Amino acid sequence: MTETVLTRSSGKPAGDRAAVSLRGLTKRYGQVTAVDGLDLTIRPGEVVALLGPNGAGKSTTIDMLLGLTRPDAGTAQLFGLPPGEAIRRGHVGALLQSGGLLPDLTVREIVQLASALHRGGPARGAAGRDSRRTRPVDAVLDRAGLTDLAGRRVGRLSGGQQQRVRFAMALVADPDLIVLDEPTTGLDVEARRAFWAQLREETQQGRTVLFATHYLDEADSYADRIVLMRAGQVVADGTAGQIKAVVSGRTIRATLPGADLATLAALPGVDRVEGRGDSVLLHCIDSDTALRALITTTPARDIEVVARGLEDAFIALTMEGAQS
Ligand code: ADP
Repeated sequence: MTETVLTRSSGKPAGDRAAVSLRGLTKRYGQVTAVDGLDLTIRPGEVVALLGPNGAGKSTTIDMLLGLTRPDAGTAQLFGLPPGEAIRRGHVGALLQSGGLLPDLTVREIVQLASALHRGGPARGAAGRDSRRTRPVDAVLDRAGLTDLAGRRVGRLSGGQQQRVRFAMALVADPDLIVLDEPTTGLDVEARRAFWAQLREETQQGRTVLFATHYLDEADSYADRIVLMRAGQVVADGTAGQIKAVVSGRTIRATLPGADLATLAALPGVDRVEGRGDSVLLHCIDSDTALRALITTTPARDIEVVARGLEDAFIALTMEGAQS
């Protein structure tokens, strides 16, 4: 059974009003197709996780989306604009894995610098918003949990604290869209939790967020929508619940000595059967129908119905057919 799933909520045309619009986006590195004809639309206000294992193409997608890497084919638009233009107009704040920090500046100075650089950007007249709009530095420091560290040199901060500085720098332009590439990599559990609590405050104000992660629990907990990537392609797109429902299937486990596996495999609702000693596992497409048939046609006992969790769904979706 192939489990490549599309529960697309991204297919609806959103025109120029989409916060993010990627069409046929493709990037090759030699023999490797890092991103392979990716289509994605994100509407304003959505909080979207780009989820996938290492090497799935998440960072390359984000780099193209921000105009940092040139696609070999396809287009990326943010708010109907080319990425560079959207960034210049202050629509976008980004927290990237590789974002360098100036170690000799204090936290407040570096956030002030980011603010000043943004304010110094070209104003684009009536068509764009005022590119010089910024948030007060103190408010941004507070939001990023940096008030107590404002006077400390950046080079003396822990990895988690530096990540908060990057977050503050992403927020200072008061962006409509925040893009975060693996924002909690290297953070301990407590720092991860604190980071997401801060981000949640932002999303409650209707900001659009796209974050890349390989942590399934982060996608499940913090995103409205999960876009699952594998080998440069989108393999599933929906809410965590939709993805679970479509891929999970259910497994019926029962004790049935001497079972005829071929007969069980032919029961309605059953996709595949495994025998394990006196036990059988029925992998089901429709477990309710399969259960009724099992009970009425066999002496099966000790029956359990097990749902596959999101973790299993994730592994299945990102592993199966990976060679294809
Ligand atoms: P992810 O962010 O999901 O871990 P990446 O976008 O970093 O995935 O990488 C996707 C694929 O492209 C991987 O196979 C990676 O090795 C390859 N790749 C990414 N960047 C480069 C590069 N600059 N040169 C060569 N290969 C690259």
